[in-house]
Amino acid sequence: MNLQLNGLVAVVTGGSRGIGLAICKALAAEGADVAVLYASNAEKAEAAAAACAACGVRAKAYPCRVENSTEAAQTVKDILADFGRIDILVNNAGITRDKLVNGMRDADFDDVIDVNLRGAFHMLRAVYPLMAKQRSGRILNISSVAGLSGNAGQTNYAASKAGLIGMTKSAARELAARGVTCNAIAPGFIATDMTEKFAQDEKTLAAIPVRRMGTPDEVAALAAYLCSPHAAYITGEVIRIDGGMMM
Ligand code: NAP
Repeated sequence: MNLQLNGLVAVVTGGSRGIGLAICKALAAEGADVAVLYASNAEKAEAAAAACAACGVRAKAYPCRVENSTEAAQTVKDILADFGRIDILVNNAGITRDKLVNGMRDADFDDVIDVNLRGAFHMLRAVYPLMAKQRSGRILNISSVAGLSGNAGQTNYAASKAGLIGMTKSAARELAARGVTCNAIAPGFIATDMTEKFAQDEKTLAAIPVRRMGTPDEVAALAAYLCSPHAAYITGEVIRIDGGMMM
């Protein structure tokens, strides 16, 4: 299937590594120009932009700590100046600070909420008027199965990811009549830097019916579809991609 992303401009937060990198490459492979946002890993972000550009599209890396609302708004302005429009926003940037509740410091809770939830809100707010005005757009939030079912040691992370689902559905309702969809993907265990410590963990793998971690490319294929014109009638949805873990 041709996803018909030619000429569209995509913004992917946390595009330097892992799932975000795979999404940048999948969108570029389908013809979208890509703004690769990252926090601090400039070298990887530049390499991600180069990999996108190798598909024959425009691509550029932008440092953007999404928890900083001024930085998020300015980055969207810079992307608009460089690319002229924004059609797709993927809120993928995320961090973990896992601890049981009784050992979780205020900073552990706040940092995770600030990046994963508040950061996504900053980006959503920055693109909202553009997409509403152009009467088209795709917003995709990368949540987690932890936001659906909870996870011991992740009260901060699960709260941020559950919050993203509420935000997704609210934005979907606000923007539906304007031709803008807003959906969430809830991955299970995907093999990235974030889950490195679980890669060889037999207990983790035993809990996954397909008996392996997912790959970033598998998440990216779903993301690219949801960001395409073909997915115009899907909005406010949360799609699990977890090897059957939560069925
Ligand atoms: P990852 O490999 O750790 O990559 C994280 C990305 O987020 C990097 O590009 C990083 O940029 C960026 N980032 C970190 N802090 C940021 C900040 N303050 N502002 C902007 N960007 C920031 O993570 P991943 O595993 O690919 O996860 C991607 C998303 O999927 C996250 O939202 C995560 O919660 C979610 N998810 C992952 C899994 C999984 O199993 N991996 C499961 C469910 C959900 P730098 O390179 O510059 O540090």
